[in-house]
Amino acid sequence: MAEQRDDERRTADVQRRTADVRGSAVDARGSAAGAGEPRRGTARREVARAWDDLVTTARRTVSDGLVVGTSGNVSVRVGDTVLVTPSGVPYDRLTPDDVTGVDLDGRQVLGTLVPTSELPMHLAVYRTTGALAVVHTHAVHATAVSTLVTELPLIHYMAAALGGPVRVAPYATYGSDELAENMLHALTGRSGCLLQNHGTLTHGSTLAQAYDRTAQLEWMCRLWLTASSLPGLTPSLLSREQLTEVEERLRGYGQRG
Ligand SMILES: [Zn+2]
Repeated sequence: MAEQRDDERRTADVQRRTADVRGSAVDARGSAAGAGEPRRGTARREVARAWDDLVTTARRTVSDGLVVGTSGNVSVRVGDTVLVTPSGVPYDRLTPDDVTGVDLDGRQVLGTLVPTSELPMHLAVYRTTGALAVVHTHAVHATAVSTLVTELPLIHYMAAALGGPVRVAPYATYGSDELAENMLHALTGRSGCLLQNHGTLTHGSTLAQAYDRTAQLEWMCRLWLTASSLPGLTPSLLSREQLTEVEERLRGYGQRG
């Protein structure tokens, strides 16, 4: 009950703040059309499109089995605004009117729904990298691996697509700045990491890329768990040299493509 009252208070706070900034911020619902067009109209359309993309990606994490219920979250950056999935709203119920956005300091500038409690992790990524999209899940195989090792063993060369061997960020309470800090450290030189006893986080230059990295990471974790599950047998692993060769090849492929 106390939690619910807390939520309501936060929502009221957010509504007040949103009312304060209305007019100066981009209104994705187009209710403030007028002066400043067409630049603001273009920005509104960009936000609406990004929100549509975000909702599609969030729903995909559920339909692909990477997320159960609302236990993950997705964000995308449009200029200095970060659109995020709101806290506790099933993704199939999100509509174009539910656009939820914050600035890089976490101040709500769009919408009235409460942003995801994992906001500190998302913002930490945008403040320190050039990423434009972040996907966070509690995918089962990846989360299982996060409880067993401090780095995902090099079971497959697709680790190169994430920038190298995937590290596990030490556990800290969800939504905390400490978790965001541990995550940033684990992400150094990588586009994805595991969060100990918690889940995954990947970023990319598009939602599709961030999503694909999550799917690849979950798949690699499942692969390692599967290969490790036969008593008396240990899977062979790749060397760093073998992975470096793949990284070089992937870079070359990118240039030709
Ligand atoms: Zn989480």
